[in-house]
Amino acid sequence: IKQGLTKTRNVFSGVLDLFTSNRRVDKAFLTQLEEQLYLADVGVQATAQIVDRVRQGFLDREVGEDVKLFVRQQLREMLIDPSAGIHHVETGPTVVMIAGVNGSGKTTSIAKLANRLKLDGKKVLVAACDTFRAAAVEQLTVWCDRIGVDIVKQQQGSDPAAVAHDACERAKARGYDILIVDTAGRLHTQTHLMRELEKIHRVVGKQIPGAPHEVFLVLDGTNGQNAIAQAEQFTKTVKCTGIILTKLDGTAKGGAVFAIKQKVGLPVKYIGVGEQMDDLEPFDPDSFVAALFE
Ligand code: GDP
Repeated sequence: IKQGLTKTRNVFSGVLDLFTSNRRVDKAFLTQLEEQLYLADVGVQATAQIVDRVRQGFLDREVGEDVKLFVRQQLREMLIDPSAGIHHVETGPTVVMIAGVNGSGKTTSIAKLANRLKLDGKKVLVAACDTFRAAAVEQLTVWCDRIGVDIVKQQQGSDPAAVAHDACERAKARGYDILIVDTAGRLHTQTHLMRELEKIHRVVGKQIPGAPHEVFLVLDGTNGQNAIAQAEQFTKTVKCTGIILTKLDGTAKGGAVFAIKQKVGLPVKYIGVGEQMDDLEPFDPDSFVAALFE
């Protein structure tokens, strides 16, 4: 993970450097800590919380390893979430719906996720419900062939809810463990898109009680704080259960995972760290924070 986070680690070194200086926790130090955390894209709210706690616990004390460890623990605790990865249901297919705007890395992430689940021994089916974008189905088909997982699709322009319906029937009838449902990343209007997502959600739930069991929103990690505004907009209509944060290998804005958790209230479940099939990692707060501090 360290390798995938090189750029984020670089900006984070600005935070770490503060702890090596021979000084006291005073107003100037706290201001600098605030600036550096903010520069690392940790977000206003999360930054304020940490700075406040450092002030409460360490004001006028010497800056040292204990302060550094405290900040590290605060960051780690911020990310801890009981719901890691995918919650698999015991009987019937587990349905994972994937949303996200075009270009966020949705198709690639679905492929990577399908690959990962297949390697875990799961029987995986993919539903190509982004029937709006030309080439979306095609692109997904190429990935599925490469990985060796099955796909349910219809021609471009067909009703995505019908594709979802078919896919659920097939998943139940043929004993698939996991159904991953792709959705449109853009429609004529935002309202239209949100309605379509709701509809797919409903259709899936009718076919398979309790489904979708997970709704992951794919966010482009290079967007940093802008990704958060996008997440807030999506989660207003469709209840999401987690985030897949992509392209962390190419950005210094990996600190956004803190802001996403604090501000949107959603755990990052997976992170994308490259363009290849195996460049998706389950998000682990411990190793993420360790990678930034070590
Ligand atoms: P979609 O439009 O949301 O389906 O996006 P795609 O899956 O087609 O991805 C858009 C571009 O981002 C492609 O060139 C992908 O190879 C690239 N991409 C996706 N995920 C990652 C990632 O984690 N790291 C890097 N470096 N590139 C990625």
